[in-house]
Amino acid sequence: MTTYSIKEIYYTLQGEGIQAGRAALFCRFAGCNLWSGLEKDRLGAQCNFCDTDFLGTNGENGGRFKTASELARHANKFWPDETTKKFIVLTGGEPMLQVDSSLISELHNLNFEIAIETNGTIICPPEIDWICVSPKAGTKIAQKTGNELKVIYPQPELNFSKLLDLSFEYFLIQPMDGPDAEENTAASVEFCKENPNWRLSLQTHKQLGLK
Ligand code: SF4
Repeated sequence: MTTYSIKEIYYTLQGEGIQAGRAALFCRFAGCNLWSGLEKDRLGAQCNFCDTDFLGTNGENGGRFKTASELARHANKFWPDETTKKFIVLTGGEPMLQVDSSLISELHNLNFEIAIETNGTIICPPEIDWICVSPKAGTKIAQKTGNELKVIYPQPELNFSKLLDLSFEYFLIQPMDGPDAEENTAASVEFCKENPNWRLSLQTHKQLGLK
């Protein structure tokens, strides 16, 4: 039985959030619990702004892996140099549909520092080194602690003052991409000026033409 379905794995720079600019191996898990469309039909998605292709296992270095060890060893092949500090970002889709303690342990055994980017609806294993939660309006946040809370802006239904009660080191606003990206960026800048507890996060990988 297949345990892990991976859309793609690639080496790049983390483009957004507090760790922006850092070399990272991205491991994108297939599937998301906040997306209910059929193939390429995103009607019915709770996140109608989703800009990620996380369907299937047919991306770069993607595939199905029967064990945590098999997946960890596969991912490790794409880190360029064993002598450097290794950093992997588990993302999706929603990685917490598949990430478990045995995968975290196998990646730690290979000396990876591990970050996760999650929508926060499922509690993460505590051994993960860096937890980034990106909450979506209309969902219940289960993962209430972590390193960064990164909110796609605007999401009018979210209560930003209440989000500040959660236990995170950094609170970030990231402009929603798409046809209104310019307007959303200007609004995000204003929001951060008016609410200094929040910092601006930009998707610099898109500006740089990185994946
Ligand atoms: S939670 Fe993230 S990956 Fe899932 S549908 Fe929403 S934006 Fe897309």
